[in-house]
Amino acid sequence: MSTRPHVLIVEDEASQREILAYNLEAEGFSVSRAGTGDEALTLFDEAPPDLVVLDWMLPGVSGIEICRRLKRREAAPEVPIIMLSARTEEGDRVRGLETGADDYVTKPYSVAELMARVRAQLRRTRPATVGQALVHEDLTLDPETWRVHRNGQEVELGPTEFRLLSTLMERPGRVWTREQLLDRVWGRDIFVDSRTVDVHVGRLRKALGRHGGDDPIRTVRGAGYALG
Ligand code: CA
Repeated sequence: MSTRPHVLIVEDEASQREILAYNLEAEGFSVSRAGTGDEALTLFDEAPPDLVVLDWMLPGVSGIEICRRLKRREAAPEVPIIMLSARTEEGDRVRGLETGADDYVTKPYSVAELMARVRAQLRRTRPATVGQALVHEDLTLDPETWRVHRNGQEVELGPTEFRLLSTLMERPGRVWTREQLLDRVWGRDIFVDSRTVDVHVGRLRKALGRHGGDDPIRTVRGAGYALG
């Protein structure tokens, strides 16, 4: 479900990894766990998460190198990475951020602080997953009540169309390929033909146009779909 943020935790110390996972799950996040950098890269490629919490000190390939590699992934530039480190020197912090990390937290950290940082990153990149209402022109979407309005009138949507619209509204103007929409809306573990995306976009368009108004969804030939 696109309304449930997926966080990948990369931490070799099992107890720390479990504490983090426990707290994120308690907040309603879905969590993947990796104990090494290689495992992290594999999990990331299988199902790009919405955010990565990455320990700097890992056995083998360091967290900083993993950060660099993740940021080169096609899906990665928009996936925030929060680095954890026992290092406290300012130079390390700068180096962490230079490799593309979006935030940097020094160990020992308070779980509450880390959660706040996680939410702050998601508010920027995946606002609907942290319960923030989305507005685009005459459309509003409230992820807490699962309600969509256009021009003040309620639009009835099925769950798939709701997730589709929520994805499009989080990034107005961005062109999504069918594959990207499949990953985001249906998830990787479910096998769905990419034509299914077209069917649901069709239903979404019909529902949004029920009370008139222009079609807000743009078909980009040979690429996919975008809002506006
Ligand atoms: Ca470590």
